[in-house]
Amino acid sequence: MPCSDDPARRAVGLRSQIEHHNVRYHQLDEPEVTDAEYDALVRELALIEEAHPDLVTADSPTRTVGAAPSPLFAEVEHLVPMMSLDNAVSLEELLAWGKRMERFISGDVDYVCELKIDGVAVSLLYEDGRYARAATRGDGRRGEDITPNVATVDAIPDCLDRAGDEPPRLLEVRGEIYMPLSAFEQLNQRQAEEGGRLFANPRNAGAGSLRQKDPGITASRHLGFWAYQAGTIEGGPVLTRHSETLDYLRSLGLPVNPEVTTVASLDDVYGFCGRWLEHRHDLDYEIDGVVVKVDDLAQRRELGATSKAPRWAIAFKFPPEERTTLLKNIMVSIGRTGKATPFAELEPVFVGGSTVGLSTLHNEDQVRKKDVRPGDTVIVRKAGDVIPEVVGPVPSLRPEGLPEWTFPTACPVCAHPLVRLPGVSDTFCTNVECPAQRYGRIEHFASRGAMDIEGLGERTVRLFVDLGLLDDVGDIYTLDFDRVGELEGFGEISVRNLRDAVERAKQRPLANLLAGLNIAHLGVTGSRALARSMGHLDRIMAASTEELAAVEGVGPTIAASVRQFFDNEANRAVVEKLRAAGVNFEGPGAPDVPQTLAGVSLVVTGTLERWSREAAEEAIKARGGKAPGTVSKKTAAVVVGESPGTAKLAKASEIGLPILDEDAFERVLEHGLEADG
Ligand code: NAD
Repeated sequence: MPCSDDPARRAVGLRSQIEHHNVRYHQLDEPEVTDAEYDALVRELALIEEAHPDLVTADSPTRTVGAAPSPLFAEVEHLVPMMSLDNAVSLEELLAWGKRMERFISGDVDYVCELKIDGVAVSLLYEDGRYARAATRGDGRRGEDITPNVATVDAIPDCLDRAGDEPPRLLEVRGEIYMPLSAFEQLNQRQAEEGGRLFANPRNAGAGSLRQKDPGITASRHLGFWAYQAGTIEGGPVLTRHSETLDYLRSLGLPVNPEVTTVASLDDVYGFCGRWLEHRHDLDYEIDGVVVKVDDLAQRRELGATSKAPRWAIAFKFPPEERTTLLKNIMVSIGRTGKATPFAELEPVFVGGSTVGLSTLHNEDQVRKKDVRPGDTVIVRKAGDVIPEVVGPVPSLRPEGLPEWTFPTACPVCAHPLVRLPGVSDTFCTNVECPAQRYGRIEHFASRGAMDIEGLGERTVRLFVDLGLLDDVGDIYTLDFDRVGELEGFGEISVRNLRDAVERAKQRPLANLLAGLNIAHLGVTGSRALARSMGHLDRIMAASTEELAAVEGVGPTIAASVRQFFDNEANRAVVEKLRAAGVNFEGPGAPDVPQTLAGVSLVVTGTLERWSREAAEEAIKARGGKAPGTVSKKTAAVVVGESPGTAKLAKASEIGLPILDEDAFERVLEHGLEADG
């Protein structure tokens, strides 16, 4: 709601909403709104207070920090208050802050630019170099005692390094405890397997892991820590700059983020912010902005602080990547193999740079795991170029009695029954005539991993199907080329090329034909195994499920799926069309593929243009290589397409692995890794 006519009433309402969210976020680690939505409430309140100073209260959330410590923990009085940070949501606001700063201060200003780690602020106390106490920020004056929990964080030393000197008698250091993305993914995977609650993001997971009664749980969560400030130093060197303080903390063995950079101009501050805005997903932890701090400690003293935040620092907040919105409905779409994919129809929401109205929910198990229901308020996340995702519901906002969503039993397009085989997560429409499957099926048949018919790409297939020239893959070989020649954009040469490509494709090996038939679960490897072992399509069509399952490399799921496919009369009719056209039905399988990648492990991430993920991985395996799902020290290179996984990329750059684009990947398939240096 915008500012109401009655600012006093609106201010009271906003304060109570903000306090409610403070408790949910800081004390319960279960926020109901995203940070951006919370920030909008605080901004609105600040605007009202600015316009009506008489409405300001001493305990207004615009003047106070965080939330009171939870009674679940012992209370700790901070030696020096832990403050918040003012923030800028645009580069213009950041510039305005810098200009104010430079007007106020005598002399040149150096700035320290730091990543704003999206974790939990903690204060650590070291006495005579020994870890003595840890506390949360709480309300800034009093925090929660979490000493035993923080003691389990590996990155936090029990004893400070001496570096030749005596350690300071007393050191209070501040920093952010965070959960690395890789640990977050593992934790949620474990939670899902054990039927536990999924965490919405690494920040909440980190905060929840830290504020546990049982430090054993904290220990199992693999948290990290970056130190970014000294609260009190007694018995240490005299420091005059923040950058010196960070060097000193580093020399004591405390982890200080390696990206910290000192710059001498606002232009360079800009550059740092812009760079990290672009590269925020290259890290194995989440950042939600950049913190810019005046370097000179004397200048800092000159600037002082408000009741809530220092004037010498500002947080430049990145545009939000998470929003909440209404999940209006869950629908199901049918793909080329008949796979029924549930997707969320959302109240459109602007997030991560675009408006999101639809989002895939992958399969029935995912919907159940996330427990999202039509009518829920859900968190939608769109990080960088990554496909938008429904993270999960906000449980406390669920309307009472909201029924669970159930997977439809009939195909929404052709009304045939939907089938889910035991042991698999996907559900299928098994009606080969289902119109929704037609385009995709023909496109797949003609694609590189299957019959490789050049010139029969997505657009052409759709055009031919729409014009009634193609109904199923069997029609490709009896395509009416005279009519094709009459179509706009099809000259004599392109028609001849297409005719030749179709003709050539009749001689593809049996394994390619099998892989192109769109049999659920049957990929290139399974097709090769069947072709090699049975040698003729007729033998495969006649084999029982048991006989098929007995073929090495063919499991019971594939066997059942192959049997079911050939039991379908419409599928058999397509096969007969192919036979009549003279398409090769005989083995022994795919031609011998040179083992260019023998023993080499390549990880594929992101979407490639010419290869589906499955086909790319199969191509690696067919050449003797391995294609695991995660990057490790054993990985030789990473094949990267559009919107790659950030954790995989981060790990690859940490290990220093070569990155292959699609062209390099194809060269490597053909000639091995040496081909690409
Ligand atoms: P803040 O998070 O905007 O900034 C201050 C904090 O930044 C510090 O306390 C510290 O923890 C952190 N930080 C990370 N890296 C740092 C670095 N390099 N140097 C210094 N500090 C660094 O402000 P806040 O007062 O801590 O909390 C308010 C914010 O918390 C809101 O803007 C919102 O994002 C979030 N919040 C969300 C909800 C919700 O319901 N979603 C509720 C309350 C607060």
